[in-house]
Amino acid sequence: MRLDGIRVMVIGAHPDDADVYASGTAAKFVAEGAQVVFVSMTNGDKGHRTMGCAELAARRKGETQAAARCLGLEDYVVLDHPDCELEATLENRRELTRLIRRFAPHLIFTHRTCDYHADHRACGTLVMDAAYLLGVPHWCPDVPVPDTAPAVFLMSDPFTTPRAIRPDVAVDVSDRLDLMADCLLCHPSQFLEWLPPEQEGALEALPAPDATLEERRAFIRRFWLDPYKANDARRFGLPFAYAEVFEQSEYGRQLTPAAIRDLFPF
Ligand SMILES: [Zn+2]
Repeated sequence: MRLDGIRVMVIGAHPDDADVYASGTAAKFVAEGAQVVFVSMTNGDKGHRTMGCAELAARRKGETQAAARCLGLEDYVVLDHPDCELEATLENRRELTRLIRRFAPHLIFTHRTCDYHADHRACGTLVMDAAYLLGVPHWCPDVPVPDTAPAVFLMSDPFTTPRAIRPDVAVDVSDRLDLMADCLLCHPSQFLEWLPPEQEGALEALPAPDATLEERRAFIRRFWLDPYKANDARRFGLPFAYAEVFEQSEYGRQLTPAAIRDLFPF
């Protein structure tokens, strides 16, 4: 396979963000032999209307492990920071540095720092803050600097201030829609319980408890894949129907266009 020995880390704020923003691309990396790890910087213990925080955190952890099996991930790490309270502190910068160094990824994906959720912004800032320090031996000397310096890619979002994301890489995920839907369906506490009231028409369209897999997939497609992945394909004029686009961060190792093509051979 073309990406044997390549390691990929997707770092999101919540225990569903890596799935929402990059599950199609992650599936393609796995299919090419890369090792893929998802990270959630928080335990997701706030986003529910009826479940208590501790119970919810435990449930969300279980949902991430189901998603990891669905996508064929090496691991889905959930750090135990409370939801809605993530900050770009020195302590968190050290924790993230150690986590990244131990896995020694070639590629990191994370949020931009202009995003609606404070946890997403803090997560993006933490990765930016760690990006240079990963190669500084006296910073966190208990975990040695690995041989690989990762390139950092920013995941797509709809925000346009100060500017829209630049699509340096566009991955055609049109042939992974069922798998992406199945991955999101591993998180019922998010996509079937917490988020539908925020999306117009989603509550009314919610699949019944005895809905078929196809009906559940159709719900996810309508409310998650069409609005984001199909919309990105349209707004960037791409020659396929569903896209995950990424911008190469100026922090971290800089890849040439040829190196980008080698690392994204799909
Ligand atoms: Zn999130």
